[in-house]
Amino acid sequence: MKVIRISKTEWQGGLDKARTGYGLYGPVKEGQDDHAFRPLAPGEFPDMSYKNSKMSPKELVHPQSEPMFQYNLNPADPDHDIMREIAKDATAKAVIGIRPCDADAFLLVKRNFDTPIYRDPYWVTAFESFTKIGFACNQACSATAFCTSAGSGPFHDAGLDVLLVDTGESYLAKVVTDKGQHFLDVCGFSAPAADAASQIESLQKKAESTIASSVNTDKLKDQVTTELYDAPFWEEISFACINCGTCTFSCPTCWCFDIQDETKGKQGVRMRNWDSCMYPLFTLHGSGHNPRGTKVHRVRQRFMHKLKYYVDKYQDGIQCVGCGRCIRLCPVNIDIRKVCNMMNGYTACSCAVS
Ligand code: SF4
Ligand code: SF4
Repeated sequence: MKVIRISKTEWQGGLDKARTGYGLYGPVKEGQDDHAFRPLAPGEFPDMSYKNSKMSPKELVHPQSEPMFQYNLNPADPDHDIMREIAKDATAKAVIGIRPCDADAFLLVKRNFDTPIYRDPYWVTAFESFTKIGFACNQACSATAFCTSAGSGPFHDAGLDVLLVDTGESYLAKVVTDKGQHFLDVCGFSAPAADAASQIESLQKKAESTIASSVNTDKLKDQVTTELYDAPFWEEISFACINCGTCTFSCPTCWCFDIQDETKGKQGVRMRNWDSCMYPLFTLHGSGHNPRGTKVHRVRQRFMHKLKYYVDKYQDGIQCVGCGRCIRLCPVNIDIRKVCNMMNGYTACSCAVS
């Protein structure tokens, strides 16, 4: 493990050097108590005092609204009726301060957007343009975080190029990939921290001990899909849901989208916009039939996708990194930890007869 020590007095100077080769992004204070990941203007630096952002940084790679093509319906124009792809920005960028759970989430989404048989060019171009400089959590970001039981953790480095650990007077930068090493070279950060391993291990243990929340997932893979689908608890779980979609929009591992043509006069643009399995229109067929026509269907779909279909397909974890956002933000307190434990512990016979 290679670790570089970065004195906090050198930190901003190093980031300024990086601006010559990278567009920089990072957490910036927004409103009273929120942070959002934004491009950093010259002279602006990531706010490393933040805990985590309300919305996940997935928007950097998968924007909420994204133009894909443009077209022109004016017959006088020689280019009329031709769908032209809108060029994407593939220049090098670095996001500083991304939390380990959110970096891990990109890898879960990658499984859907970058496969051996299909590559989503918009997502892949944006994803590959970023160098991800992670920031370990020295303590739980909130009481709803359960990352350590969801396959991630406060010092997890999967999906990162560098993991920064805050020791107070300096950052320890654990080099995870060559891409990360290149970023540190451009910044001019090169002081080796030979004694860092034990310091990181000790901070990691302390951080993990502050994650007070957890889920049980060990039996999910052995559950019979149709029995979980027909379980009697979906009515109760979904009762309070107002299908607002907050849980899916804030989730770093949710990726549903819709594609719409927006035409004004003779000009048009084809947009990709976030959508949500919690919205009735998401699955409405042109015939008028809707296979998920009630909120019970939609709530069940959200949890079955994350905690059973994904488990069955990949056999190595759930489609959730335990960031806890959906729990904190749901206006009616629907809690994925409770649902996960209900699904994990379900036995069909226990509910068949009362
Ligand atoms: S945030 Fe809560 S109320 Fe809104 S759609 Fe999700 S589960 Fe339903
Ligand atoms: S399902 Fe909830 S806890 Fe899990 S990654 Fe998404 S927002 Fe975070």
